[in-house]
Amino acid sequence: MDIKHEGDEHLQPSDPMVGSPQRPGNLVPDHQPSTHAQSKHLRHPDIYVAVPPDAAERRAVPPVICYPVDTLPRPNITAYRSARESWTLTHRLTIPPRDAACFTIPKGHFFRIRCVGGPQVGDLNLFNAYNLEEHFYSGKTRALNRTHVSIGDHLYSNLPWLRPLATITDDTLAWYGIDAYGGGVHDVIGTRCDPYTHRLLSGGTYHRCCHSNLTRALSAHAGIPLAEAERRVHDVLNVFMCTGFTRDTGQYFMKASPVRPGDYLEMFAEIDLLGCLSTCPGGDCSEVHSSDRARCYPLEVEDAIYEPRIKRRNLHSNV
Ligand SMILES: [Zn+2]
Repeated sequence: MDIKHEGDEHLQPSDPMVGSPQRPGNLVPDHQPSTHAQSKHLRHPDIYVAVPPDAAERRAVPPVICYPVDTLPRPNITAYRSARESWTLTHRLTIPPRDAACFTIPKGHFFRIRCVGGPQVGDLNLFNAYNLEEHFYSGKTRALNRTHVSIGDHLYSNLPWLRPLATITDDTLAWYGIDAYGGGVHDVIGTRCDPYTHRLLSGGTYHRCCHSNLTRALSAHAGIPLAEAERRVHDVLNVFMCTGFTRDTGQYFMKASPVRPGDYLEMFAEIDLLGCLSTCPGGDCSEVHSSDRARCYPLEVEDAIYEPRIKRRNLHSNV
């Protein structure tokens, strides 16, 4: 039995014939009686799985959105932007390559993560500045927004708080959208590079990965032991990182970030925040991470105060 894309190990631009739920016949030649049809397992080519006669019918069931957000107040981005027109830059923090640093953002401040020098990915953790138990919740932020976040998306905290920690108010990479490979920018689907996965896959050790960088920076900033800081580090917002899932095998992929010097991601702090940002050792994450091979650049964090021209209650609307 032949599988249409068997052996195709290279990512290809979106092809409606490859792995599409709209073309269930991909896995089974049309001439084969469906009652006796079998499908090779994509990851285990020697394994055959029986295809039920109503396979096409089952695949054709349309999806529904898991978490409709129509009832949520939507951020009035125009109001946010007009509020920061009179902003004043108060602080600028430069994070060296393959390192991390913490920073505090008072409620009501905007902050930007800016690319300087060259294409560079950043791994961001966010905490309630007064309670490290409350932190960014990548999974629910993904479920409530999408796999890659941009202007107008809230970044939510973990349970039981589940409230916006920050709102994305500007993104110079918002033009990117979803590319032909299914890739997008600023993902909330990955985790962070860490020494344990690296050891699992390669047997080696590497301690300038984002997990370790974030742990060291949080420990130093909060004055807590490394072991405690490590437990506080959580799944990140992958700032500027370009990622997706392969259409045929569903595997997590990365590709060269489209970010260039001058690009930034801007957020509004909805509560007093403690941020922690790692400059990923993967650089633009076009090839490798968890090593010193990739070319890396610093990232800047800027925050600013603003003189409110509008009442805060106007920052959200139901329209
Ligand atoms: Zn990393």
